[in-house]
Amino acid sequence: MKRIWRRFTIVVLITGCLFGTQGLLQSAESVQKTEWRAAATSVVITPEKSMWMSGYAARNKPSEGKVHDLFAKVLIIEDMNGQKVVIVTTDLIGITPALRDPIAARLESELKIPAAALLMNASHTHCGPELREGKATRRGLGGDRGAEAREYTQSLVKKIIATIGKTLPNLEPVTLKYSYGRAGFAMNRRLPTSKGVRNSPHPQGPVDQRVPVLSARRNDGSIMAALFGYACHNTTLSFYQFCGDYAGFAQEYLEADHPGMVALFMMGCGGDQNPYPRRTLDLAKQHGRALANAVEVALSVSQPRMIHGPLGVAMDDVVLEFATPPTREELLKQKERGNKYEKSHADRLLAQLEERGGIQIRYAFPLQVIQFGSDLTLVAICGETVVDYSLRLQKDLKTDLVAVENVEPIIWVAGYSNNVFGYLPSLRVLKEGGYEGVGAMTYTSYPGPFTDSVEKRVVSKIVELTKQARKAAK
Ligand SMILES: [Zn+2]
Repeated sequence: MKRIWRRFTIVVLITGCLFGTQGLLQSAESVQKTEWRAAATSVVITPEKSMWMSGYAARNKPSEGKVHDLFAKVLIIEDMNGQKVVIVTTDLIGITPALRDPIAARLESELKIPAAALLMNASHTHCGPELREGKATRRGLGGDRGAEAREYTQSLVKKIIATIGKTLPNLEPVTLKYSYGRAGFAMNRRLPTSKGVRNSPHPQGPVDQRVPVLSARRNDGSIMAALFGYACHNTTLSFYQFCGDYAGFAQEYLEADHPGMVALFMMGCGGDQNPYPRRTLDLAKQHGRALANAVEVALSVSQPRMIHGPLGVAMDDVVLEFATPPTREELLKQKERGNKYEKSHADRLLAQLEERGGIQIRYAFPLQVIQFGSDLTLVAICGETVVDYSLRLQKDLKTDLVAVENVEPIIWVAGYSNNVFGYLPSLRVLKEGGYEGVGAMTYTSYPGPFTDSVEKRVVSKIVELTKQARKAAK
């Protein structure tokens, strides 16, 4: 990168000599504007027919129409060296390996874009289609949900690959700017009570209400794309119509107010955060407006941080361990005495015992870091990431970089990325118990909670990857 930059600098100086100071300033500006190229595209991903929805186990019938369309959005950013990152955001409950893996493979084989440069994020809307298609997760769900989900996922893979292909030839010079706003409707939902943690508003609980915004601006000053984040479940709504919830409305409002701009919502570490109040369409719209307003504030700040390159990417698996799995006898008891969800959980684990001769005791998933020069560290974590990860990494990763380079870096932590397998609790959440640490496992095919090493393993892998990505981004 340095060699290319030097060549540009020489051109600027010569131009400056010929056209005086004014020429130098103009040329310096135009050089800066070619530091990045970017392109962004939206594609509608609303299922073409009624299908089972994802997010609430209690739903007892398939979808009935839509409030508005669901979208996948593609943002490709290329640095001066030609290295690209592809960010795909989606109005979906999660990202599954069946969705990401074939897209990553095609990018790698046909475009030579490494899997580490593909970030896929889900808004976690609870009014999107069912994506679980595996035999184990399908068991107990009933109906044709699995086959339907597989068919939908396959069409989505094709659609997203085609959209990436369509976006690539449109790369044009941009500047990248970062700033952030705030929105106040996310609140911690883990209320401590004498009977343990309850799912209820907890105003004193940890929260991350920042709205980070990365905007790509064309040479004429117009905004091509705004990637923005928020750490909060998309659970204002729980009905039977497809809808992007507050994040869907925020994107819709921003695109209406900025013709020609693609607005991409990237879910943060909102695993233990809910939008409050909730349950009506009007409230989802209000939260969407609040979030869109926070993005507008960020877009209008007079001194946004200019983001420079080059890009550096790093991705690797972290391996987590589950606590000692239940025995066959314990599972049989659970099947006998549990509620319907506990019963079907026991069924899935008994089937695992039968088919594999044992119960899964480890789970591996990828963690990812995308580094933009010495300016911005974008961390993407799998699973329903709780807010402690964002709050902790903001400090841990910043301290590390300040010590090394004496600059103030921006740390942006996205959850719900690349493989949303279930909840990823922090050690605090795990020890406190409740839904995100323990209870939610009943709805998966995992045997039970993770061990106490969960946070330590995730954070140390992210620190390692951040070092690699920062080295590559020099
Ligand atoms: Zn969730």
